[in-house]
Amino acid sequence: MLRLDLLHPEVSGNKWFKLQYNLEAARSAGKTRIVTFGGAFSNHIAATAAACHMAGLQSTGIIRGEAAPQLSHTLLQAQQYGMELQFISREAYRQKDTYPWGQQFPEGYLIPEGGHNAAGVRGCEEILSQAPTHPYTHIMCPVGTGTTLAGLINSALPHQQVIGIVVLKGAAYLQQEIPQLLRPHISVNWQLYHDFHIGGYAKATPALITFMNDFYNQTRVPLDMIYTAKMVWAFRELAVQQHFPAGSRILLLHTGGLQGNLSLPPGVLCF
Ligand SMILES: *Cc1c(COP(=O)(O)O)cnc(C)c1O
Repeated sequence: MLRLDLLHPEVSGNKWFKLQYNLEAARSAGKTRIVTFGGAFSNHIAATAAACHMAGLQSTGIIRGEAAPQLSHTLLQAQQYGMELQFISREAYRQKDTYPWGQQFPEGYLIPEGGHNAAGVRGCEEILSQAPTHPYTHIMCPVGTGTTLAGLINSALPHQQVIGIVVLKGAAYLQQEIPQLLRPHISVNWQLYHDFHIGGYAKATPALITFMNDFYNQTRVPLDMIYTAKMVWAFRELAVQQHFPAGSRILLLHTGGLQGNLSLPPGVLCF
């Protein structure tokens, strides 16, 4: 397992890679504020707020839906890092990619939801060089927007197979979207698995919670319920089904996101 969750206490995991070239682009464009988008439990919102705080940039989070009476842990943390939150209706959120935000934020640099752009992919191309990963035959990671997976595919070696575990239900569109993020002439073999969302985005069954606690007790590795737990669960299922040929060496990418577990009631997880 490649532990991106250990990278940084606040900007943990893949979000750090997705943000680095976006923040750099904002600075070179002379912008002083990052404007980005997400839901109330978005790791991207939390990570962007922390990264902007460290980089000396202002930040605005455009949040999907009305503000709940009690803000989520994610949003409170983002506010603590100085992010200004602007709540918009789900209807308006659907139009966000065509709305002229530049008029409201002339000093703002826009990063799409989830850091899903070419600069995000480029940052994720550096993930596999964090450790000696060439001996691995398979690389697995959880998939939301597919930005991280695209970076892995772009930087994997020809003998490696890249496997994405999709955590959203009904996300067949990813099969068409991911190729748009790939460099030309990429010959790496890659697949998406759509059967391990375990009820859908951010849904956790009691079996998944038990699995996370058992995995922690056996390995001391904490997983997050939205992404990494579903990937490790999928890995276990595929291994049991003898999906991987004998002699395979499989690298699981721990993409971080542990702050999401703080939305669970205390005591549910043993870590
Ligand atoms: C955001 C996130 C992902 C999804 O990454 P994409 O690049 O959007 O596919 C995976 N794991 C964790 C922990 C995340 O926070």
